[in-house]
Amino acid sequence: MGIDYYSCERCGEGFPDVIDYVYCECGNVWCCVECALEDGFKYGIEIDEDGEKVDSFDGATCKYCRKEDFNDSELLEYSLVLLKTTREQLVTKLKNSK
Ligand SMILES: [Zn+2]
Ligand SMILES: [Zn+2]
Repeated sequence: MGIDYYSCERCGEGFPDVIDYVYCECGNVWCCVECALEDGFKYGIEIDEDGEKVDSFDGATCKYCRKEDFNDSELLEYSLVLLKTTREQLVTKLKNSK
C-alpha cells in the first residue's frame, strides 16, 4: 500500500493520507479540523456501542456540498458563462492588460 497525498481544500497544504486529516462525503479533504471548520465542515452523527452520539465522518457535510459556497473553479466557470467568454480569451485579455 502506497501513501497518497492530498491537498487541503482550504489552505492548499499538501499532506499524506496517513495523518489525521478531515474529509467530507463530497470528497473534499482538509489538513486539519481548523481548516475544515473554516469551510463550514460539520460532522455527521453516529451512535456508538453505548448509545452515545459521537462525531462521525459518515454523513459529514461542508459548505460546498450544502451549496452554500462554491470553489474557485466552479465560480470561474460560472463567471465565464456570465461574461460570455472563455478561459482562453480571458487569459489573452489579462496578458494584454499587463
Ligand atoms: Zn489546511
Ligand atoms: Zn462536502
